[in-house]
Amino acid sequence: MVAITARSALPEARRIVIKVGSALLVDEAKNTINTAWLAGIARDISRLKAAGKDVVVVSSGAIALGSRLLKIHNKTLSLQEKQAAAATGQVILAHAWMDALGAYNVQTAQILLSPDDTETRRKHLNARATMAALLDLGAVPVVNENDTVATAEIRFGDNDRLAARVAAMVGAELLILLSDVDGLYTANPSDDAAATHLPRIEQITDEIMAMAGTANAQYASGGMVTKLEAARISTAAGCHMIICDGRDPEPLASLEAGARCSCFMATESPHAARKQWIAGALTPRGTICVDAGAATALRKGKSLLPAGVLAVDGQFDRGDLIAVTDSSGKIIGHGLSSYGAADAAKIKGHKSREIEAMLGYRGRDEIIHADNLVVTES
Ligand code: GLU
Repeated sequence: MVAITARSALPEARRIVIKVGSALLVDEAKNTINTAWLAGIARDISRLKAAGKDVVVVSSGAIALGSRLLKIHNKTLSLQEKQAAAATGQVILAHAWMDALGAYNVQTAQILLSPDDTETRRKHLNARATMAALLDLGAVPVVNENDTVATAEIRFGDNDRLAARVAAMVGAELLILLSDVDGLYTANPSDDAAATHLPRIEQITDEIMAMAGTANAQYASGGMVTKLEAARISTAAGCHMIICDGRDPEPLASLEAGARCSCFMATESPHAARKQWIAGALTPRGTICVDAGAATALRKGKSLLPAGVLAVDGQFDRGDLIAVTDSSGKIIGHGLSSYGAADAAKIKGHKSREIEAMLGYRGRDEIIHADNLVVTES
């Protein structure tokens, strides 16, 4: 991979996830959206879109906005009250993004996710496909946690880690956390004059983790601990991560102009990291045997289409890892199946355009998409 600097990461990335925290978006004094700031980041994003980049926004603010509308913002909220606030505020939040980006003719789309949607492979593939379709259509997905259905045990709770999971899911090259600090310091800069800023972090060591202090000793509103956890998730997925001060009127333009930030470097590409994730997945739940034509196509990096399938074996669901063999039983590779075993068996040997008539729904054209396939032997 080409050596990247904090300054070159943004211009060089083709797909970028931008995380925006409540503190930037909500005007505490006026109890509403900070529309001036939102207009600035929308201008920033429209510039990236015009340069041909895919942008995903992960936006907080639903609970902060909703609790103000419901007039419960001056107390500690119960889980139900937080969920009620999220349900109320999410409407305003989605509208605000639609208006702000709409001013630049950029279409937005709301995506609400629970941890299950990024962790369970079947759901992960669905969310990933929807996100890919939106990006292909030029839209900016605006993502938040699905707070109204999340319970205390099964929620991300913070959008730093959600943003990192989203970056991994969409194969982004760069995740930017817009914060109220300009990066990671060796100690808390507000009470330690000797604290120094770290512009570039190659590896998230225990020493680096210790710099964030504990969850109770935060110096950014979202906490540095969750930001470092986000950095771990995103760099492992091949995505660089930047923490920068989002309070500027156009923070991304400032970043490109060389504003101070901390950049956590990924060591491999998102594509290579995804292949590793698949290769390192659990034991295969089934086997698909393919004909010679399909075997050659797979070795050239193509997807597996139903037409090339000779036999389907095992009990697997959509999203499960399966082994692919040639007609002699030799393993060619492993991949995540777009179909469960029963449906895969029904469509084997058929053209993709026949899938809908055979299954009663229009599924994916390929049984294993090339992105989800690792060829182990060539
Ligand atoms: N999902 C929460 C909200 O929109 C925010 C979580 C966070 O700020 O990290 O209100």
